[in-house]
Amino acid sequence: MDDLLQRIEQKEAELIALTQDLIRFPTINPPGEAYAPCAHYIGDRLAKRGFDVRYIRALGTPGDSDLYPRINVIARKEGSNPGPCIHFNSHIDVVEVGNGWTKDPFSGAVEEGKIYGRGACDMKGGLAASIIATESYIDHHPDFAGAIEISGTCDEESGGYGGVAYLAKQGFFDKDRVDHVIIPEPLNKDRICLGHRGVWWAEIETHGHIAHGSMPFLGDCAVRHMGAVLEEFEQKLYPALAKKQTTMPVVPPGARQSTLNINSIHGGQSEEFDGLPAPCVPDSCRMVIDRRFLIEEKLDQVKSEITELLDDLSYNRSKFSYQIKDLFEVQPTMTDQSQPVVKAVSAAISDILDKEADYVISPGTYDQKHIDRIGKLKDCIAYGPGILDLAHQPDEYVGIADMLDCAKVMANAIHRLLNQNQH
Ligand SMILES: [Zn+2]
Repeated sequence: MDDLLQRIEQKEAELIALTQDLIRFPTINPPGEAYAPCAHYIGDRLAKRGFDVRYIRALGTPGDSDLYPRINVIARKEGSNPGPCIHFNSHIDVVEVGNGWTKDPFSGAVEEGKIYGRGACDMKGGLAASIIATESYIDHHPDFAGAIEISGTCDEESGGYGGVAYLAKQGFFDKDRVDHVIIPEPLNKDRICLGHRGVWWAEIETHGHIAHGSMPFLGDCAVRHMGAVLEEFEQKLYPALAKKQTTMPVVPPGARQSTLNINSIHGGQSEEFDGLPAPCVPDSCRMVIDRRFLIEEKLDQVKSEITELLDDLSYNRSKFSYQIKDLFEVQPTMTDQSQPVVKAVSAAISDILDKEADYVISPGTYDQKHIDRIGKLKDCIAYGPGILDLAHQPDEYVGIADMLDCAKVMANAIHRLLNQNQH
């Protein structure tokens, strides 16, 4: 094992170069830029190492077009004997750059042991670490038993429908292909992420009646009705949500309860026109809510908690009427700590870092939801280098020493998972 760790350390320059190369593909999503060249870069590299490489376009999924094709890469290396398959899944998309950068977001600048760039921590650093871990393991154990897969997938930042969800529907995460999955999202090198909270997005619309703005009493203002909804949220819903605490080890601890974000509110005339508005009473107001829920909660209760409040308003407030539309929902998931991938990575962390692994739950979702729900594969965690708080921020970076440590943990975990019967 020491030789294997040394081998990884010797690849530090290669790991840096690989991470920089990946950052230099501006795979911004939306709209889904540069997916094809990035996927082919990964595939070309692994093909040279004897991987069987496939490119899967997620035809017809949201955003897929000839201009922005959703090209996923999935590479598989069979060992010399049958055995379990371990799969490393990374998303190749990154979010928009945003303001506040002092570094070039797509140059991969290296300074004081850190590589900077959009996607450095979320999650091209993790992808690079998993590639180096896998290649080093294969060099060290050329006659390994089982199989190792590496995928680079699209659209995680926009729900994963053109990426892992599509691949899972095509059977790529079926039991006969894959046994264990590690998603190298940036959760820090000593933490194992077991899953995530649930999500419900909905759009609430309140209705009014249009009239001249100089005589609002002749109309009915939909924005004021929405104001009443917000007041109910403040008075009743937010205090109730704060009381719903979870046993899930969510990080940061502020997310260890049910939460609700008001994502947007639009009422009255569009802001897109920059002339003077006409005087009108708004007849519609729409609000998008983002409710995150706990493993202890049921989605239908989460929904009825809000619709009951709206129904009360319909009963108590004059002329109040509303519609509610589901936009998106994800069930919470939490992998059991007795699952093989959890035990292997936990043992690898204590081997390499000489400390106990922390078990965490992500406040937001990631592609594990599709592997769990569509692929029906429960032996899945997120584990990778980088500081979660830096994700989506300006001057995002990943630490080189952290990437090396994670690559060692990953290689150690590969060895454990592929040789389980011998332990
Ligand atoms: Zn990510």
